[in-house]
Amino acid sequence: MPQIIDGKAISQMIKDECRERVAVLSADGKVPCLAVILVGNDPASTVYVGNKKKACEYIGIKSLSYELPETTTEEELLALIRKLNEDEEVNGILVQLPLPAGINEDTVIKTISPAKDVDGFHPENVGKLCIGQPGFVSCTPAGIIELLKRSNIEIEGKECVIIGRSNIVGKPMSLLMLRENATVTVCHSRTKNLKEVAKRADILIVAIGKPRMITAEYVKEGAVVIDVGIHRLEGKKLCGDVDYDDVAPHTSAITPVPGGVGPMTIAMLMNNCVEGFEKR
Ligand code: NAD
Repeated sequence: MPQIIDGKAISQMIKDECRERVAVLSADGKVPCLAVILVGNDPASTVYVGNKKKACEYIGIKSLSYELPETTTEEELLALIRKLNEDEEVNGILVQLPLPAGINEDTVIKTISPAKDVDGFHPENVGKLCIGQPGFVSCTPAGIIELLKRSNIEIEGKECVIIGRSNIVGKPMSLLMLRENATVTVCHSRTKNLKEVAKRADILIVAIGKPRMITAEYVKEGAVVIDVGIHRLEGKKLCGDVDYDDVAPHTSAITPVPGGVGPMTIAMLMNNCVEGFEKR
């Protein structure tokens, strides 16, 4: 039987730790403050933003909410970000992605002050991760490191294969696993012999965006499998990029969907907000 990595329990632990840190830090009456900007009314984004605000409330982080209409121009959004960059009360700025057509995401990300970039998407923070300096790290990959460490899974010296090279998951994940002294291979849509390469992995991290694509044929006996994917199937059931029922019996540890990587993203966002306040 594989170890089922419990993201729900681990994320709760991290949120409780954040709550304690905030209680200590805010003894002088000052509290961390996160500004959350949502442009338009994409239903999934509205749910994500709602969950982030709820988590802030639980931890004791003040959240400022900016819900802007779909018709907002890039210049209007940039002006708001610049104002929040200057606001001393605000420690973190989060712009919910994706943005409506006509607004350049790269420009928006670059305009957020790196010191308030709690999503870890600013090129300065990505660069710091690359050269091993402290800075904000993208929440989903940072959450995966916590899942592994808190489940007592050794990373150092292990063969790690990451499938997916996106800027928010695959690439930062590879840098974090390198920082933890794994031997890292990154695969993508042009990788040849994906099954053979994936089968080398002691730790296989999957962030492809294709429901249940990874079957047992991709997995070495006894590997640890981390599934980042999240898809809603007909009938509302959720599944990941990994075919869980097929793969799980061949693993030593695996994350389920839901309840694996998903809850870690918000927990690490909260962690970044508290860190931003501590560094203030
Ligand atoms: P993305 O679409 O930006 O990137 C997908 C990557 O997979 C690309 O690098 C591409 O080269 C690779 N890929 C696509 N098809 C492939 C194939 N057939 N073989 C090998 N590689 C292939 O996606 P993303 O933003 O990295 O997200 C990946 C998945 O993770 C999605 O399902 C997304 O919903 C989910 N996700 C979950 C969380 C969370 O909090 N749990 C956070 C971010 C993303």
